[in-house]
Amino acid sequence: MPESVVLVHGGAWAIPEHLWDASVAGVKAAARRGHQVLAEGGSAVDAAEAAVVSLEDCPAFDAGKGSVLTYDGEVEMDAIIMQGAGLSVGAVGAIRNVPNPVRVARLVMDKTPHVMLVGEGANKFASAFGIEQVDPDTLITPYARKELEYYKTFKKTVYSLFNKTEPPSGHDTVGCVVVSASGATAAATSTGGITAKMPGRCGDTPVVGAGAYADDQAGAVSTTGHGESIMKVCLARHITSLMSTGQTPEAAIKGGLEYMESRVKGFGGAIAVSLDGGVAAVFSTPRMPWAYVQGDTLHFGMHPGQHCTEDL
Ligand code: ASP
Repeated sequence: MPESVVLVHGGAWAIPEHLWDASVAGVKAAARRGHQVLAEGGSAVDAAEAAVVSLEDCPAFDAGKGSVLTYDGEVEMDAIIMQGAGLSVGAVGAIRNVPNPVRVARLVMDKTPHVMLVGEGANKFASAFGIEQVDPDTLITPYARKELEYYKTFKKTVYSLFNKTEPPSGHDTVGCVVVSASGATAAATSTGGITAKMPGRCGDTPVVGAGAYADDQAGAVSTTGHGESIMKVCLARHITSLMSTGQTPEAAIKGGLEYMESRVKGFGGAIAVSLDGGVAAVFSTPRMPWAYVQGDTLHFGMHPGQHCTEDL
């Protein structure tokens, strides 16, 4: 029986130097958290949710607290969670004022016949299920405000994000993929989106097959990067399909990212696990923090080619 894996990412793009340490610490803590949930008897989807909650709570990332701002200076977040057994999935789009959108996505999956709730409806649903609504200012970091001002000053918008040599976003989307020892898969992704996005814009993250995919017959994938590009090529489903033909997670992600670049000139990254315990974190942007626990070892990295390990 293969060993379980809990693998997380903290988003593709540049990651400015002042966030490097916090980003690596954040992904390591999240991988440990997910692993702990599995070790205590939680399911793959429980572990994915717990790991993403840990990342949403870390202000170094563009998700939950630390989310980037819309052009109007507000936080609107997207999240998805998917369970590979039965392809169950729940998502929220453009939700506001909740610290952990992935928890609401989980409730959509577990408590409704729907796949995605957006905007006001998502907030009403969250309240009905006792999710705390917080003062929006508590989700906004000074860095997110600064980033928006930078974009406004230089009149850059979401449309300029195609160019990877001019990396836009300082901190980024988060995600987690899990395969348990019994072969149960799960994936979750959460984001504040892209700085200066139009109010009401939903990115790839809550779109099933774009921002995440989990299938107990193939593996699990969480993506990050330019959302409009990721949606056009259904990146997470594309990578999962390649894995189901026998490709390793690494080959499948590379194939998916190459396809996205060749078809729509988009850049990003993804993490993937296969049913046999294969693991990969691959990106076509300058950096992407990632970490995973397999056996008694914590693996992590952020820069191209970096792969560090430490004992759990
Ligand atoms: N994919 C996210 C979005 O477009 C952002 C990111 O992953 O950096 O909303």
